[in-house]
Amino acid sequence: MKGGMTNDTIAALATPVGGGVAVVRISGPHAVELAEQVWRCRNRRPLAQLPARTLHLGEAGEADGMAIDRCLAVRFQAPASYTGEDMVEIHGHGGGLVARQILLALLNQGARHAEPGEFTRRAFLNGKMDLTQAEAVADIVQAHSLMALRLGKRQLDGRLGQQVAGIYDRLSLLLAEVESQLDFPDEEIERVPGQKLASELAALQQETQMLLESRLEGEVLRQGVSLVLAGPPNVGKSSLMNAILGRDRAIVNHLPGTTRDTLEEFAHVRGIPVRLIDTAGIREARNAVESAGIARALASMREAQVVIWVSDVRKPMQTQAMPPDFARLPVLGVLNKCDRLPVGSTPPARTGEVCVSALTGDGLEELFDAVERMVWHNPHEHEPEVAVGARHAALLEQAMPSLREAEQNLLDDQPEMAAVALRDALEPIGMIHGKTVLPDVLDTIFSRFCIGK
Ligand code: GDP
Repeated sequence: MKGGMTNDTIAALATPVGGGVAVVRISGPHAVELAEQVWRCRNRRPLAQLPARTLHLGEAGEADGMAIDRCLAVRFQAPASYTGEDMVEIHGHGGGLVARQILLALLNQGARHAEPGEFTRRAFLNGKMDLTQAEAVADIVQAHSLMALRLGKRQLDGRLGQQVAGIYDRLSLLLAEVESQLDFPDEEIERVPGQKLASELAALQQETQMLLESRLEGEVLRQGVSLVLAGPPNVGKSSLMNAILGRDRAIVNHLPGTTRDTLEEFAHVRGIPVRLIDTAGIREARNAVESAGIARALASMREAQVVIWVSDVRKPMQTQAMPPDFARLPVLGVLNKCDRLPVGSTPPARTGEVCVSALTGDGLEELFDAVERMVWHNPHEHEPEVAVGARHAALLEQAMPSLREAEQNLLDDQPEMAAVALRDALEPIGMIHGKTVLPDVLDTIFSRFCIGK
C-alpha cells in the first residue's frame, strides 16, 4: 500500500524554503536512531536519553562529523506524537541549505523521503485522528478566511467526525438488532418492533439530510467563490478591487483600457473566501492586445460565481450595459463614483443595484451585504458548526436511498431486505470518517497535502 507501510522511517522538510527557521521531520521506528546520526546534543547525551517533548540545543552535522548548524531537536515517543510513531523534529536556521543537508544526511542513513501528506496519513492509520480530522489539516493549511479557518479547526477537533460516527454507530446498532431477529426468530428475546426501528431510521435520515444541507457552506468556505469585476473601461473596476482588498494591488490609471489582462487576488468578504478577479474593460477592441484581454474578461465572467458589473454613475446607463448574452449570469450591478453625484440627487440605481464610491469607500458595506446574499442565497447569520465537503456530501448522497429503503422494508416487515439496505448505507457513511476505507481513496485525499504535513 502506497505510503501505508509504517515499518519504515520517513523524513521531510516541514517548512517552506526561505523562512527564518527550517524544520525537518522524521517519523517511524528508527526516527531517534537516525536523528542521532545527524544531530548531537551539546551535553553529549544521546537523544534517546533526553526527556521527550522538550527542545534540546545541539549541533547538526554531516556524516564526517563536520557541524553545519546549531540546531534544536525535540523527540516524541510513540504513541504520544502527531503520527503516533516515534518522531524527531530538528529546527535549524532557515534558508534551505541547512535543512536540505540534514535531510540528505537522513536519507543517506536510510530514511525514506515522505510523500505528500504522509505524516498525516500515518496519524490516521495509527488511530490518532479520523479521516475528517486528517482532511481538516489540509483545510487549515489552505484556508483563505477566518470563517474557513475556524471551520477547519472545529473539524480538526472532531466535530464532523463525531456526528458521522454517531450516525454510523446508531446504524450499526440497528443492523445488529435486525440481524438478531433474523438469526433467532423464535427465541424468547424481547423484539424491538419494526415500527420503532423504522422511526429511529427516519431520525437518522433527518440527521444525514441536515449534514447534506451544510454542503454549500462547506464548499464555499473550503474552495471560496470567484468574484469577477467587469464593466466598461475607466468605470473604476481596479479602484473597486483595491477598495475591497484594502490595499493597492492593481495599477489604477486614468487612461481607459489600462487593465489589459486579468488580475487575481484572494480576499474575504464577510468571512467568505473570495478570489477577486479584475478584468480588462469591455468595449469595442481597438487592437489585438485589447481584444485578447476582452476575450479573457468574458471567459472569466462566464466562470464566475458572482459577476460585479461596474458602471460609472454619471454616464448614461444604456451605453454601459452588459453584453446581452450575459444576462443569465449571477450579476450584481454596481454604480461607482457616487461621490461625484451632485449633493441631494438620487442615484439612478435599479432594484438590486448598489451605489458605491471606490474612492471614499461609501457603499462598500451594502456591496458586501449583496455579495453575501448572492453567495448564501439567504442571509447568513450563524457560522456553521460543521459543514461537509464535496467528498462527504457524495457519500451521504450515496447512503440516502438505502436509508429510505431500509425504513420502508422495516415498515413492510421485511427484515432480510432491511439488513441488506442497512449494510449498503453503512459502507459509504463509514468512508466519511474512515471506518471503512480503501487505500486508493486515501491516495486521493492525501495527494492534496504538501510534503512534510
Ligand atoms: P477601470 O479601468 O475600470 O479599472 O478604472 P480605474 O480603477 O483605473 O479608475 C479609472 C479612473 O476613475 C481613475 O482615475 C480613478 O481614480 C477614478 N475613480 C475610480 N473610482 C472612483 C470613485 O469612486 N470616485 C471617483 N471620483 N473617481 C474614481
